Amino acid sequence: MKTIKDLPFPITAMKADWMPADSWIGFTPTGKGLNAAAQCQSTINKQAKNGYIIEYITQSIQEPNEGYENEPSYLETLKEHPQVAGRLIAIHKIRASSRPLEEILGNEAYEKMQDVWAKPDKRVRWSVAFPIVESYEIINKPLAKKIFSEESQKSIIRRSSATLRELSEKDRISLSYLEIKRIETRNEWIAIEDEIEISQKSNIDQSILDLINDDLPVGAFEGETEEKTSKIKRRAAWLAQKFALRRSREGTLICDHCSYDPKDTINCDKKYLRSLLDVHHTDPIKSGFRYTRENDFELLCPNCHRLEHLKIRMCNDDVL
Ligand SMILES: [Zn+2]
Ligand SMILES: [Zn+2]
Repeated sequence: MKTIKDLPFPITAMKADWMPADSWIGFTPTGKGLNAAAQCQSTINKQAKNGYIIEYITQSIQEPNEGYENEPSYLETLKEHPQVAGRLIAIHKIRASSRPLEEILGNEAYEKMQDVWAKPDKRVRWSVAFPIVESYEIINKPLAKKIFSEESQKSIIRRSSATLRELSEKDRISLSYLEIKRIETRNEWIAIEDEIEISQKSNIDQSILDLINDDLPVGAFEGETEEKTSKIKRRAAWLAQKFALRRSREGTLICDHCSYDPKDTINCDKKYLRSLLDVHHTDPIKSGFRYTRENDFELLCPNCHRLEHLKIRMCNDDVL
């Protein structure tokens, strides 16, 4: 079973709310003026530091605006709340850039939400929303007071805050052995679309474009337009390049299957060493439909890479 300490990034902060997050985490900008939303986004980025966020459900529930006490979504929250109140329920990775909640929900649902929850003169409840791109359920959903020290509870639970609550190293240690399970997230396509835009503007090595093109199976994008297919491929190559650069930076340019280390063969600069290893996409079929991450790639020596592709071909022939 996977535990929190197996996650590739640390849990940097906690989000407290009375309603479990669905496919986005929203924040209500506190400042006034045109920059309020941008300021809110920048505060959250600073707190999240690109790590995971742990979700805590508060003991009490906010009451809806007058006249909405019988709102079905509120009644449902009220019914489910006792099971999760005071508990740590999930871990999320949010995308670095937010989207206006109105764009995610559509105008009608957004206005309804403001009718029910916002103060009449401040209709921006949860309006700065970060799409969740990766989620884990915490299996036991423990009470936060059983996990965090008295001192931590004071600083992260009993203090009200419109933003995130940053965790200390000590808090992270308290969490590290909680068991977690990956769950599907529904906003992946939003994140994919935005990354497609970035990848269109980035320079990508032709060799990486070619390798990834070979990894993506023929027919994987049946029914998709040629334009969309080529965008999805370019994004996959962009991620592959990020992955290879990171490995180079970390000094781990070795074959992930046989541990071949190009350094043992030739003494040269990192950028040449990288040319002796190929990037391979391990789960290409889901490229367009799932939030592919850097973890979906591996570095292989040319031998292992060929072998891997031969195995895939043989497997496909069996299917046919
Ligand atoms: Zn190898
Ligand atoms: Zn490959």
